[in-house]
Amino acid sequence: SPDLLQTIFSDLNTQQSEAVRHMDGPALVLAGAGSGKTRVLTARVMHLVQQGIAPWSILAVTFTNKAANEMRQRIRSQLGPAANDAWIGTFHSIALRILRIEAHHLGYGNDFVIYEPAESVKVVNKVIRKLNISSDTLNAKRALGIISSYKNSNHSPQDILADDAPFEREVIGPVYQHYQELMSSFNAMDFDDLLVNLKRLLSLDAEILAKYQQRFSYILVDEYQDTNLLQFELIYALGRQHRNVFAVGDDDQSIYRFRGATIENILNFEQHYPQAVLFKLEQNYRSHQTILDCANRIISKNPRRHGKQLFSDLGAGEKIAVKVLPSAEDEASFVVNQLGELMAKGFRPNEIAVLYRTNAQSRLFETFLLRSNIPYRVVGSFEFWKRREIQDILAYVSLIANPRNIQAFERIVNYPLRGIGATSVEKIVTVAMDTGMPVLEAAAMVEPDLRGKARKSLQAFLELIGSFNGGQDYLMGDLIHELVRKAGIERDIRTRDDENQAQSRLENIGELISAATAFDEKYPSEQAPIQRFLEEVNLGLETRQQTTDGVNLLTIHSAKGLEFPVVFLTGLENTVFPSPMSMGNQFAQEEERRLMYVAITRCQEKLYLTRAQSRTLFGKTAFCGASAFLREIPDDLTVKL
Ligand code: ATP
Ligand code: MG
Repeated sequence: SPDLLQTIFSDLNTQQSEAVRHMDGPALVLAGAGSGKTRVLTARVMHLVQQGIAPWSILAVTFTNKAANEMRQRIRSQLGPAANDAWIGTFHSIALRILRIEAHHLGYGNDFVIYEPAESVKVVNKVIRKLNISSDTLNAKRALGIISSYKNSNHSPQDILADDAPFEREVIGPVYQHYQELMSSFNAMDFDDLLVNLKRLLSLDAEILAKYQQRFSYILVDEYQDTNLLQFELIYALGRQHRNVFAVGDDDQSIYRFRGATIENILNFEQHYPQAVLFKLEQNYRSHQTILDCANRIISKNPRRHGKQLFSDLGAGEKIAVKVLPSAEDEASFVVNQLGELMAKGFRPNEIAVLYRTNAQSRLFETFLLRSNIPYRVVGSFEFWKRREIQDILAYVSLIANPRNIQAFERIVNYPLRGIGATSVEKIVTVAMDTGMPVLEAAAMVEPDLRGKARKSLQAFLELIGSFNGGQDYLMGDLIHELVRKAGIERDIRTRDDENQAQSRLENIGELISAATAFDEKYPSEQAPIQRFLEEVNLGLETRQQTTDGVNLLTIHSAKGLEFPVVFLTGLENTVFPSPMSMGNQFAQEEERRLMYVAITRCQEKLYLTRAQSRTLFGKTAFCGASAFLREIPDDLTVKL
């Protein structure tokens, strides 16, 4: 209807309208942050339907489920229930939907189950045992990580079995192959399998390929710069017949290289799709000009970019506030004070975001927010004290402090894996409950009944806990530091988690040690520090109120695609951001720069950049200089607070 057309185009500019009006043939919208790419994508779905295209023949791929829901809702508000027929979702949810119809062509039942990583690990363990591979050579988590990266770069087990490198050919290849066979015999897929199997399905069976190529007459992809090879090939295969692939993205916002995303997908779009029409959007509707100037200045130093212009009509706006604080605690305290003032001026908590480079940095902000009674939510992760590695270590500390803590005992008696089985644990807990004796005593009593490795392990475990002597005479920082080492937690994390995951967990543990060290300094003459420490932690966990309207705490990675009136970009130090791990690696350094660009461009009005001159990392206080990025920002854009 003309009304609908009116609504679709009334809030689009000329460039955006042109992109939305584009009908047939491949097209790429390449444009900077906040220029309305996601809005164009949404409007285009509505326009296609308005033009008489059947909703069920439209496929729109988003980066997160959250984005998919928002898009569906917006479309539904204009088109009504017809919107439900459009295929809108992430790569994984779309693949799942197709495989529920077609999986039987691949030898699965259509009612296949999806395995969580924890379940997949068990399957890999079976394979490793069956193939007689020693756990020193390869453990299950690591194997899964490697298999996952092969899947995402589109390598089959056969490819790896023919690899030049002996480890790949003789160890990984067979594990990969057997894992797939076993999973398939369980009628199970892991997350990666969803994409891999869709790809297999489409290359295996010409009829099925043709069916979906015909069905999806229009394909739209958001955040195209962060697609990986496999995702590229899926879109390419599905779009082959109608060639109506419409991708939007920003090469400057490619920040998932470490997960296999390849910026080449966007840089080579015109080669992959000859005759592609290129649209550029140049007006940014999100941020004031000062913020844009700052972002442009930073990103202009990356080589190999598609040149882009970006201007804002929103006026210069306020200058960017820069604040240097003596310590990371002072930084958190400053940020929380400022946002308290902003809220007093009428900003709602969820209009404010606190961004940081590493997940571990959330701890101090959470502490100060709790203290000030300001509601918050940690987006894309658990709250600091609820993260798995933190809870594991707290369970150790609790058991050291209290030999009766059954819950803590159950959590860590077999973590890291020591070969103490569920039956033994059950026996110990039953004895403790029946007799009322401390669970550690019950364990000592049951121990002679156990056999072989389990017995030795339990002995060692009890010795380990005993060696801390109830935590008497320990500083908390020292206790946790020693515990992490002695219990083999660090080693476990390094060998079991993939590199990024491991890094993040170790950073969290480092932050825990820093928290404990700060506690020691705060209570130098405490009689029973371990009790007091646990009380403080638990108090923090309990007083926390659940909320939907809270200040947003999030890593820069989790902030992609989002926008906030107020942004605090924190930890701008040379030891934090750009990540010291990117040193000496040009690609990694360029990615850090894109991260900085993403961070700045989340902000609509008020941008605060903060850094601390000292930060306690892993319990050691170190002095730090300004981030190179901070030094690059011209003085006339900023004001020092
Ligand atoms: P990112 O690169 O961060 O994903 P984007 O290019 O997808 O950004 P959008 O999120 O679609 O940008 O739009 C940014 C903001 O600008 C949103 O609040 C959106 O509603 C608004 N916006 C986009 N186009 C217009 C327009 N023509 N008129 C008014 N507001 C607009
Ligand atoms: Mg977007």
